[in-house]
Amino acid sequence: MTAEQLLQKHKLRKTDIRTTILNLFLNAEQALSEQNIECTLKQNCDRVTIYRSLKSFVEKGILHKVLDEGNVVKYALCGETCHDEDHQHEHVHFKCNTCGATVCFEEIPIQNINLPDGYKKVESNLLVLGICDKCPK
Ligand SMILES: [Zn+2]
Ligand SMILES: [Zn+2]
Ligand SMILES: [Zn+2]
Repeated sequence: MTAEQLLQKHKLRKTDIRTTILNLFLNAEQALSEQNIECTLKQNCDRVTIYRSLKSFVEKGILHKVLDEGNVVKYALCGETCHDEDHQHEHVHFKCNTCGATVCFEEIPIQNINLPDGYKKVESNLLVLGICDKCPK
């Protein structure tokens, strides 16, 4: 799927910045933080525009948030089935301690956790830390 096709599928108007940001994700094969994106797009580093684009991608089901270590939020491309009303991301995320890459394991769901009475789950996140398949062990 190309950036243009993604925008069309999710009924977002095509703008240069949206296309550029989506292309970054399509080529990155890992989750990206707002800062990663700002650094790559030095020439038109308008933080507000980047922030708004990311926000609409999340609302439309193109990207989902990945909780990284600390307070960093990264974003990753959604699977084919996500759309604005149904967006499920209870899968494992993995962060490499060596290269810092964070990736989605869409095929590994987070196990259901039984919470004590009186607690209601809204969402769960699982970040596994380790060494990825591209880094020396
Ligand atoms: Zn999604
Ligand atoms: Zn790595
Ligand atoms: Zn993910």
